[in-house]
Amino acid sequence: MDAGFFRAWIAEIAAVVEAQRDHLTQLDSAIGDADHGINLARGFGAVQGALADADTPTPASVLLLTGSTLISKVGGASGPLYGTAFRRASKALGDTPEVDLAALAAALEAALAGVQKLGAAREGEKTMVDALAPAATAFSKAVAEGASTDDALSALTDAADAGAQATISMQALKGRASYLGPRSVGHEDPGAASTALILHALRDVATAQAG
Ligand code: ADP
Ligand code: MG
Repeated sequence: MDAGFFRAWIAEIAAVVEAQRDHLTQLDSAIGDADHGINLARGFGAVQGALADADTPTPASVLLLTGSTLISKVGGASGPLYGTAFRRASKALGDTPEVDLAALAAALEAALAGVQKLGAAREGEKTMVDALAPAATAFSKAVAEGASTDDALSALTDAADAGAQATISMQALKGRASYLGPRSVGHEDPGAASTALILHALRDVATAQAG
């Protein structure tokens, strides 16, 4: 996976969050302030513009510009959190021109650590961590066991989907949704849903480039 692969991933995220903008915003209207889809569509749209104007020769440079742009362009909680995730992943990759599965696994773990350091959310508190943590764990495990790219990425997206679904029955303990207390139960967390979309975009781009 080279810099072109990571640019393709970010472009796919931009397309998917634009297509799912209303769905994500609807999820956020149930337990938040109805802006999650708008925030991400604006943020990744700005990232696309920044990537078009910049020279990003390494995978890390793509992810660094992505993270920095999200932090500067997205006002909601998700901007700094996703921005930090991409910046931490960038740092974990170093200046390698070609990322293998083990390096990608380490980058996802670093992204998770960054989100948790900034947002202080643990698993079970109904946030994006509930999708990202099981996804990173499942991916690392699959890679350590020698899984193929296909199988490792399936493990990643399956765990993210299950994690996002599991937020429905959780009570929010972090972020805006926590103001609702028990009334936050019964709705999927918008950030967990968008994390699953972002990870699906990764798998879809890998599948398209392999096929
Ligand atoms: P805001 O809540 O400021 O309106 P968004 O609507 O864009 O921002 O994003 C909301 C999402 O951010 C939530 O669904 C949740 O997944 C995530 N989130 C909020 N606070 C935290 C936190 N402390 N740690 C991890 N994720 C969080
Ligand atoms: Mg919101």
